[in-house]
Amino acid sequence: MGLPKKSSTMRRKPTASNLHPHTGKIPLREREQRHGHRGCVVWLTGLSASGKSTIATELERELFRRGCQPFILDGDSVRQGLCSDLDFSERDRHENIRRVGEVTRLFADAGFICISAFISPHRADRDLVRNLMPPGTFIEVFVNAPLAVCEQRDPKGLYAKARKLKIKNFTGITSPYEPPLTPEIELPTDKLTVMQAVEKILRLLEKKCRIKTKSASRPGKVAGAIRWSDW
Ligand code: ADP
Repeated sequence: MGLPKKSSTMRRKPTASNLHPHTGKIPLREREQRHGHRGCVVWLTGLSASGKSTIATELERELFRRGCQPFILDGDSVRQGLCSDLDFSERDRHENIRRVGEVTRLFADAGFICISAFISPHRADRDLVRNLMPPGTFIEVFVNAPLAVCEQRDPKGLYAKARKLKIKNFTGITSPYEPPLTPEIELPTDKLTVMQAVEKILRLLEKKCRIKTKSASRPGKVAGAIRWSDW
């Protein structure tokens, strides 16, 4: 498939030539005005069982309740379709995040809040996705629970299997995880409740993506506190 041996933070050059991407007639700004917030990516990274999917699900629910347009991309789901040809080898992990990053970018271009829950163990792969996005619209969230806590939770029984070497390349056990150096948010989920973690993300989204505050999104409250001229 012609993948680079080492992951790079640069987008690959297309293999095909004579490409002429078409530009639509709806500017992002108009889509964002309709949605009532900026398009952006909330990228949840962390060990298996650190809480990414649990937090993503509650975050999506709350954003939807506030009238936003959120959508979750989750590791286990995309591996059933878009990435069903990929395994957990280093090479395929890079390709998995590259593909997901491109999809994430499309969602943000459509003005959505794309919540991506992927272990995404390699810093360079996460940076590649960051570099695809307009500045300020990639929010890296380090879902940080100690390995021992994740292993104790083990909701899918994966750590038990990995310890018995029944799963190859399991992050944290037989495959490395590179924690973010400067994430926009760090969530120690051994200390925070799920809702405290969600609140932390929401507070940043209020500033960065102009989502409505909780009080502004109460039923009956008129929308329109967003000053689009600020953008
Ligand atoms: P991941 O998507 O990172 O693999 P999951 O969300 O599937 O993790 O599983 C995390 C498990 O930890 C769930 O069973 C969840 O209920 C539990 N859990 C306990 N405390 C927290 C917390 N503060 N935040 C997120 N999940 C938590």
